[in-house]
Amino acid sequence: MIKIDNLPEIFTKAMPVLQILENAGFEAYFVGGSVRDVLLHRHVHDVDITTSAYPEEVKELFDKSIDTGIKHGTVTVLYGGESYEITTFRTESGYQDFRRPDHVTFVQNLDEDLKRRDFTINALAMDTRGQIVDLFNGLDDLKNHVIRAVGDPEKRFHEDALRMMRAVRFMSQLEFKLESKTQQAIKDNHKLLKKISVERIREEFVKLGLGPHARQAFQVFLDTNLSEDVPDFGGKKDQLAIFPQLKFSPTMENSLWSLIILLLKLPNEQIHRFMRDWKNSNAMTEQVERIINLFDLLSSHALSDYELFLAGEETLINTIDVAHIVGQPISSEALVDRYMALPIKKASELAVDGRFLIDRGMRPGAKLGQTLNKIRELVVSGEVENNQEAIESYLTTIE
Ligand code: ATP
Ligand code: MG
Repeated sequence: MIKIDNLPEIFTKAMPVLQILENAGFEAYFVGGSVRDVLLHRHVHDVDITTSAYPEEVKELFDKSIDTGIKHGTVTVLYGGESYEITTFRTESGYQDFRRPDHVTFVQNLDEDLKRRDFTINALAMDTRGQIVDLFNGLDDLKNHVIRAVGDPEKRFHEDALRMMRAVRFMSQLEFKLESKTQQAIKDNHKLLKKISVERIREEFVKLGLGPHARQAFQVFLDTNLSEDVPDFGGKKDQLAIFPQLKFSPTMENSLWSLIILLLKLPNEQIHRFMRDWKNSNAMTEQVERIINLFDLLSSHALSDYELFLAGEETLINTIDVAHIVGQPISSEALVDRYMALPIKKASELAVDGRFLIDRGMRPGAKLGQTLNKIRELVVSGEVENNQEAIESYLTTIE
């Protein structure tokens, strides 16, 4: 049996939580992503715990807990300044419409719980002594970099079609390949993805797109036809096929969406709808619109200082990132240098405001707004210095 000795701090800190459960006569294990990632020597961002104790029993053992998903057996326990999701051993049943189970059944042993998990590499558990429980040869699959469904892939994807998206996102994050039957089952069942909520698909798609091996995974996303059953991608394989050919892949979510929009050659007036179809937030949509807008300007002419100012630092950096990914030749350093050298970078840095103009006899209204904009533009482009005297003497020239 394999045993891990030098556990990262995130596990040692959580160990007392397992101990408390064990001392009360229950079984408790670390499970899922954290066990997989520690074995791969990857960074572990959180640890999930699975136990034979019922949610009510878990709650009695800890001072502070939150009923995160008590119906599904999950309680969040606060301990030592950290929070831990503790889920009772369970099986899932009554999958309707190829979605999440409509109810769960608590079970008394770990084996049943591990059986319901999606892939062998995600079905590993670790006990308080660091010993690994591996019922489905997940350790071999980890060693061989293989993503393999637990049990019959066909059946598992019928239970929950999101697992097909999860398979390709783990490819991207881990640089693993799909085991052949698992891949074939995705190819045969990609249509089931239509039953899954866009929010859940988006979450996996973004992880796929931002993973270090996104281009390889994206190729499989296309080859298995999963791409046909996500919003607005149907019939667009030819355009999307450029993604795997790119020299780089995105590292920021707004770059990912901008890149996809550019590949799909979406006209500006369709961006909003596209982003909404994917259930993106308004904030994300706004960022993407700003990036695409600046990208268009950048591709058509040399940017003026004022255009750089209006874009702002964040949009500029994001747009440079996107241009870099699509191989658009731009002198990014020069652009950043020019931006950094702007006399002001925010409207609030202007030496005057509306009050200043009113004190000098201007009436509030549209004209005042226009004058303020003009001053800002002249200051940004270096034609008027950013101080009250210089601006005042400019004002005398337009009276
Ligand atoms: P990440 O590092 O992205 O958090 P993870 O493996 O922890 O990866 P989660 O979505 O946090 O993924 O899920 C935790 C665990 O729950 C998984 O490792 C897997 O065992 C199980 N799991 C999650 N989603 C499913 C699913 N749709 N079907 C079956 N098991 C699942
Ligand atoms: Mg996780």
